[in-house]
Amino acid sequence: MISSVLPTYARAPLNFIKGEGCWLESADGRRYLDLGSGIAVTLLGHANPVLTEALTEQAGKLWHVSNLYEIPGQQELADRLVAASFADTVFFTNSGTEAAELAIKMARKYWYDKGEVSRFGIIAFEGCFHGRSTAAIAASGAEKMVKGFGPMPEGFSQVPFGDLDAVRAAVTDQTAAIIIEPVQGEGGILPTDDAYLKGLREICDATGTLLIFDEVQCGMGRTGKLFAHEWSCVTPDIMMVAKGIGGGFPLGAVLATETAAAGMGLGTHGSTYGGNPLACAVGNAVMKEVANDAFLAEVNRKAGLLRQKLEGLIAEFPDVFDSVRGAGLMLGIKCKAVNADVVKAGYEAGVITVPAGDNVIRLLPALTVTEADIEEGITRLAAAARSLA
Ligand SMILES: *Cc1c(COP(=O)(O)O)cnc(C)c1O
Repeated sequence: MISSVLPTYARAPLNFIKGEGCWLESADGRRYLDLGSGIAVTLLGHANPVLTEALTEQAGKLWHVSNLYEIPGQQELADRLVAASFADTVFFTNSGTEAAELAIKMARKYWYDKGEVSRFGIIAFEGCFHGRSTAAIAASGAEKMVKGFGPMPEGFSQVPFGDLDAVRAAVTDQTAAIIIEPVQGEGGILPTDDAYLKGLREICDATGTLLIFDEVQCGMGRTGKLFAHEWSCVTPDIMMVAKGIGGGFPLGAVLATETAAAGMGLGTHGSTYGGNPLACAVGNAVMKEVANDAFLAEVNRKAGLLRQKLEGLIAEFPDVFDSVRGAGLMLGIKCKAVNADVVKAGYEAGVITVPAGDNVIRLLPALTVTEADIEEGITRLAAAARSLA
């Protein structure tokens, strides 16, 4: 008999009942160090008092009003995001997938309004992940996501990640946009280098193609800059954020330049919950904490420390681990053992990591992770590795 929860996830037998900072407690009283943050979501740790205060204060006043009315918290959050980024305008969603949908719609509408109605092609990258809607799985093209779901929407293609010539060859006068994660997350924590993003920007500028960055996982301070693309000094035309921006409350956004957003006038898009008062109260609190140089300097310092210790760990267990890669506190350890086994051994050792493509385990701790947490994390990862070696 089918379980009452649709069985689309192979769930680990872990039952967490509360959390604090980087720590989770399960129903049986065990404590786990959380280096996954629910896949890069709980950006400021569990039960962060600042976020709890922001949410509960708003909850006592007003939960929801329709986007038919003004929402001051939404205006404030949009202003903050515009002030802190390349963007001129923001639309709020509840998830990364919805942000992907709008980013794609926006790029297509841009060309439609220019009279280029067949310029709807979207070029994505092998190993990418933009969500689970029909358009987002079509963008990925991965058989494990699209198989069985009928005809995919037209116009999506994929090129190898990291190959500029392949992009040059794929862009035609039917290409509306290129969509890329500046650091591939699900694909296995694969960063792009600065020259690559610059090359993409040049291709886009030469052809008019719009450049969409998916910063759902790598944005919001995770790499040590507010947005990962800032390392390269390249800006997109459209960007998606979600995950960390809500710190665990469902919130996403599409940020865009005025030019790229030109087609999205009255009535072209909407959302019931997107940008509602509760979500925006939390989003504003997250932005206040993260969009500041002192906070980001600390992220970089702790990222350096974690990375250095991981290098030591890998050297100590060369049969289990291969190498570390990533940016800031978005790190992947390429494994020699099977990554799922390493994650499972981590559960036994009381440390939570997240598997990704290319036999990688992801470390995506809260940006508020302490030095003591990092020490403990390394100790527990070592225990996990020892149990496998
Ligand atoms: C998680 C993720 C998404 C999808 O976000 P949801 O909130 O799960 O819809 C899209 N893009 C990237 C890069 C992601 O990591």
